Amino acid sequence: MTGTASFPEPVEGNTTGTRPSASSGTGATNAELFARAQAAIPGGVNSPVRAFRSVGGTPRFLVSARGAYVTDAEGREYVDLVAGWGPAILGHADPRVIEAVTDAASRGLSFGSSTPVETELAELVEARVAPVEKLRLVSTGTEATMSAIRLARGFTGRDVLVKFAGHYHGHSDGLLADAGSGLATFALPGSAGVPADIAALTLVLPYNNLDAVRAAFAEHGDRIAAVIVEAAAANMGVVPPAPGFNRALVELAHAHGALVISDEVLTGFRVGAAGWWGLENSVPELAEGRASAGSASDTYTPDLMTFGKVIGGGMPVAALGGRADIMDRLAPLGPVYQAGTLSGNPVAVAAGLTTLRAADAAVYATLDAAAETIGDAVSDAFAAEGVAHRVQRAGNLFSFVFGEEAAAGEVRDYATVQRQEAWRYPPFFHAMLDAGVSLPPSVFEAWFVTAAHDDAAIGRIIEALPAAARAAASARSA
Ligand code: PLP
Repeated sequence: MTGTASFPEPVEGNTTGTRPSASSGTGATNAELFARAQAAIPGGVNSPVRAFRSVGGTPRFLVSARGAYVTDAEGREYVDLVAGWGPAILGHADPRVIEAVTDAASRGLSFGSSTPVETELAELVEARVAPVEKLRLVSTGTEATMSAIRLARGFTGRDVLVKFAGHYHGHSDGLLADAGSGLATFALPGSAGVPADIAALTLVLPYNNLDAVRAAFAEHGDRIAAVIVEAAAANMGVVPPAPGFNRALVELAHAHGALVISDEVLTGFRVGAAGWWGLENSVPELAEGRASAGSASDTYTPDLMTFGKVIGGGMPVAALGGRADIMDRLAPLGPVYQAGTLSGNPVAVAAGLTTLRAADAAVYATLDAAAETIGDAVSDAFAAEGVAHRVQRAGNLFSFVFGEEAAAGEVRDYATVQRQEAWRYPPFFHAMLDAGVSLPPSVFEAWFVTAAHDDAAIGRIIEALPAAARAAASARSA
């Protein structure tokens, strides 16, 4: 590696595609930085997927990001389809967000006291997402789901949690659980360090399988506190809910006195102004005031919802919200304890609030169009090389599943995702990376676009595709 960028320059004069300053480089190669990081940090990373274990090779150490582009320590620039794993819907370092953060920071970093902007953010979310009557801010998606589960247990007085295989809700103990041997049998620890007794309070069911949900409620109904579900699954690659699945889940849970926690950490404010719930409940985007959730026969109202990523605009903000009578069981009003030194941090909230305010209908239209164009272009490139695959989509989130089975029909569950020809992805990923396109470093992740993915950025992706698709076509299973 010479440290010289080998990719075409982005179009000049466009604020989203300009090259970050050369001074952002560190003088060290990615390989050197990774070696040093591995000595200081477990695996060299602060979150596992960044380690490139499922694609091999050396992770890129990023030093700056702007618009649709990220730049690594060697000064190489990539069109980014990771978008910070979701938050950067406006594009990286959007000037409005940077200004809001800078302004907030200049007035103090953390007060440990209430601030006016926290209420503004809560009001904004409540105006957009009707099931959210009250909102509590936390710092990470993991905290949001962990707190929502505790709240559901405290509210119902029950202990058992239902989740779906392949859904990720963060890394709290009860959620790191693998399916037991039968449909309605309790889970086993999904990680070393998770006590078996804790995993045994979780039932892991196949996604999109209402029979399995019915069986679980039939057998354990009076013990189930809540069902937690990704509003549209996007942590095993993208696997959308079957039409009517989320609504049926709410009906089944309510029939047995259980709550539904719809996890929109990933989908919330990304797939639309009211998240996946908004898409499924046909809430007019950015409708003023409260929408009439639950009034039509095909709508549904989750009891609790969780948010992260976009709500923080790239800063550590996440939230849980929902029915006021449930939310009011949280301390200090109720007996369910939940707290956080940095919860509602003013600098982080400034980023989230500014991002949500800027994310208007035009932004979502741009995200949708970019996702459609890129998804189609990748699919065409695979088809041209005879690579059997399926594009999986949930709003503007998308990913690819490889193999004849996926090509034959919509993929609806984790077992099918796992049976794919996953070995086709690493050579594809690396060919794209070498050509200056940064994809999620695992086939089991969604691809994320930003509103800054303009024609120039998309053009660079399209240019890189034929060679990368050939690499996928000539891949051989190990
Ligand atoms: N829930 C979902 C649906 C997620 O996608 C994630 C993270 O990717 C989480 C929860 C956990 O969020 P965090 O990584 O902020 O703890």
